[in-house]
Amino acid sequence: MAGRFDYLVTGGAGFIGSHLCERLISEGRSVCVLDDLSTGSIGNIETLLTSSRFEFIQGSVLSVETVNRSVDMCDEVIHLAAAVGVENVINKPVETIETNVSGTENILRAARKNNTKVFIASTSEVYGKSWKVPFKEDGDIVLGPTSRNRWSYACSKALDEFLALAYNHSYGLPVVICRFFNTVGPRQSGRYGMVLPRFINQALTGKPITVFGNGTQTRCFSLVSEVVDCVLALMDTPEAVGKVINIGSTEEITILELARRVREISVSESEIIIVPYEDAYPSGFEDMQRRVPDVSRLVDLTGIRPESDTTSIIRKIIEYGIPEGTQ
Ligand code: UDP
Repeated sequence: MAGRFDYLVTGGAGFIGSHLCERLISEGRSVCVLDDLSTGSIGNIETLLTSSRFEFIQGSVLSVETVNRSVDMCDEVIHLAAAVGVENVINKPVETIETNVSGTENILRAARKNNTKVFIASTSEVYGKSWKVPFKEDGDIVLGPTSRNRWSYACSKALDEFLALAYNHSYGLPVVICRFFNTVGPRQSGRYGMVLPRFINQALTGKPITVFGNGTQTRCFSLVSEVVDCVLALMDTPEAVGKVINIGSTEEITILELARRVREISVSESEIIIVPYEDAYPSGFEDMQRRVPDVSRLVDLTGIRPESDTTSIIRKIIEYGIPEGTQ
């Protein structure tokens, strides 16, 4: 039976979610968003609210009743709602674990009733401290001790993956699971820790650019619009069902080089300062040194991958305007 909407997007008022909704609406699809606005904002979806093909429900994935009602209205679910950002994860550990674990459980249970296809957003955090770069989906995951609550995020997301795969194996529920690597673009806020909007905000407002640790740690940054392309391509690929798939760029850059590049492209006179981890984060934090995806599974399944280079991504974000920095 066809639902009232083509898609339910949980976390649709968030950074990735709102870009995904914009794309779906521009392609003529109908979308219902479920978001509690904890880290997302109405501003992100403002332009969509007038569309007759768009509906916004303010609510939590922790409410079984709300989740059941929302899932029942839609043909497919893209489940992005989660606790985001290193700062939130460290400062609000109970909320992080509960939202990520119970929220996903509620979605999967609701989807099972009508065998609704579900996209589960996971994260490269799941690889933890693994040194086997580039990270392959079937590689071992290496997490730190439970006394350091950064790892609760990785662990809660790994549990989401186990649960989604179990629903697929035991009940035949069509699930597609993706591990997002660092995704950036217009509208991303630096409020919850994300490094690139922070650096750009600092460079454009003349504040010091804060490099944590010694700056030799690396990341790969992909543009949100290209990540959205990959998500939708995977949802349209039957062979992706029951699989875990990395989505990210493979251009690796150190955080210090990122700071230099942002400073140069924005023609900023901001000073680049090194901030020791102890001063940057509350205790319980451990950083990851390198984080690079192997994207061969993504390419084999869809023929596409995030391709924009870091320099052009920085330019694009700067063109859009000054991102929100720390509060
Ligand atoms: N980082 C930094 N300065 C900041 C914010 C973050 O040097 O103002 C560093 C952070 O310690 C990490 C990297 O940038 O090594 C990426 O951090 P982010 O929180 O964006 O993402 P994640 O650690 O989840 O990849």
